[in-house]
Amino acid sequence: MFGKIAKALGFGQQGASDKDQNVTSASTDAVQPSAYEERQIIELVNSSPYIRPDARAQVIDHLMRRIRLFDEDAFLTLEQKREMGLNTRQKIHSALPKLLSEEGMKCGRPSGVIGYIALAARMNASKHDSIIKISQPGLVAGVKIVACDCTGETPCAWAQRNAGKVLPATEETEAQRLRECDCSPYCMGYYEPVFPED
Ligand SMILES: [Zn+2]
Repeated sequence: MFGKIAKALGFGQQGASDKDQNVTSASTDAVQPSAYEERQIIELVNSSPYIRPDARAQVIDHLMRRIRLFDEDAFLTLEQKREMGLNTRQKIHSALPKLLSEEGMKCGRPSGVIGYIALAARMNASKHDSIIKISQPGLVAGVKIVACDCTGETPCAWAQRNAGKVLPATEETEAQRLRECDCSPYCMGYYEPVFPED
C-alpha cells in the first residue's frame, strides 16, 4: 500500500507547505482507536519503509494515544535542514529525524507520513466496521462495489476488478480488499448495501 501512499502524499515533489504539519498532529485527536484499528496501525507502521525500524514501537504508541510525540513546539532550523539535505522551505518537527527513515525524511512531505498512516488505519477500520454491521443474516443481499475516481487517482486492482459486482457482506470480502488494495491514502473502492428486494 505504501507505494501509492507515497504518491498521494506528493512524495517526490518538492515544495510542500507548512499546512502539512497538521497531518503530523492528526493522530492526537481524542478518539481512541478500536482494537481493529490498532491492529491496522501496527501492520501499517511495521510495513512502512518511511518509519525507522527502531522507532516503530514509539510511533505505534503515539498513534494509539499512549504517548505524544509532537507536544513540544520544536522545529529543525534552516541550517539543520540544509545539513540533512532536506527541503528548507518545509517546517519539519525536530522529533521527525529520530522517527523517520532516510527515505521518509527525503520524501516530499515528511511531516505527513505519520498522520497518513493514522488516516489509512482509520479508513480501513471504518470499512471493516461497516461491513460487519450490515453482515447480519437477512439484512442485505450483499454489497455492491463502487470504484470512485474522485481523487483523480486510479482505484486499486481490487476496486477495478469488482466494480459493479455484488459481493457477500462478509469479513472475508473486506479481508480480500485489504490483501489487494494499494490505493492511497485510503481505498477508492466503496461498499454499497444491496437489499434482498433490489
Ligand atoms: Zn483500494
